[in-house]
Amino acid sequence: MFDSNRDTTNEGSTDVRRRVFLATAAATVAGLALWQWRKPSVLEAAPAVLPEPKEVTIVVFSDAGQRLKIERIPKVVKTEDEWRKLSGNAFDITRHADTEIAYSGKYWNLHDKGIYRCIGCDNALFDSATKFESGTGWPSFWAPIAAENVTEIRDTTFGMVRTAVACTECDAHLGHVFDDGPDPTHLRYCMNSASLRFVKYV
Ligand SMILES: [Zn+2]
Repeated sequence: MFDSNRDTTNEGSTDVRRRVFLATAAATVAGLALWQWRKPSVLEAAPAVLPEPKEVTIVVFSDAGQRLKIERIPKVVKTEDEWRKLSGNAFDITRHADTEIAYSGKYWNLHDKGIYRCIGCDNALFDSATKFESGTGWPSFWAPIAAENVTEIRDTTFGMVRTAVACTECDAHLGHVFDDGPDPTHLRYCMNSASLRFVKYV
């Protein structure tokens, strides 16, 4: 009788455990079902909230190199077809971070005084006053015309860790920046001529 009672107790306790387990499992399944049901409804709601047009801060310069004002403007967004209108290798360089062949570009050996603007959006990028002879075959500068006007991005392509430089206003790839430049910054902005448009000082 004693043994029988103990067995009953054990069975009862096993039943309770099983019931608790089943209840927990059911709650988990219900929870998952609820989560799976709720998740799409959140995703469906997302497109109703349209993203704000992205704005960027740039410094505006005249063609005489004069710093005019700091401006908050909508980012320039162009279609792939619009970018393809750029001549020669400018599309591959600005959009796919290609690099022009050294000594092949039109600005590596240019010594005129003027301003270098973005080929994609005319944003002012470099001043001839910071251009120096790097011996690389690419136009090289020790500073951008304004820090705001260029964006530096960590680039790990080709098994190297480099810092890519893009136009803040339109995202055009410009080149890379290295820390082996001359005084006063010791930086070398190694640019592609094809990403730039030179405007001689008036
Ligand atoms: Zn640009």
